[in-house]
Amino acid sequence: MTKSEKQHYDKIARIGCSLCKFVLGYDDTPAEIHHIRRSGKRFNAPVIALCPEHHRGNTGIHGYGRKQFERVYGTTEEALLAKTLELI
Ligand SMILES: [Zn+2]
Ligand SMILES: [Zn+2]
Repeated sequence: MTKSEKQHYDKIARIGCSLCKFVLGYDDTPAEIHHIRRSGKRFNAPVIALCPEHHRGNTGIHGYGRKQFERVYGTTEEALLAKTLELI
């Protein structure tokens, strides 16, 4: 990871969990970085912040899988990314 990537990730993580914030209405939930996979590439993938539960938990994006996650919460990864990018 380059220094500028790390700074970018830190900025995004500081926003807090994007699902908690934009969809559930909880501010500043401590979050970790989730890479959005587009065409299977991880390098330079766009990232959003998700709290440990919404990231790796049973009700999170990896627990449910993206399709189920998007159905349950009525949002999409791309929508969370768009809202995240508005804030940084
Ligand atoms: Zn969350
Ligand atoms: Zn992830």
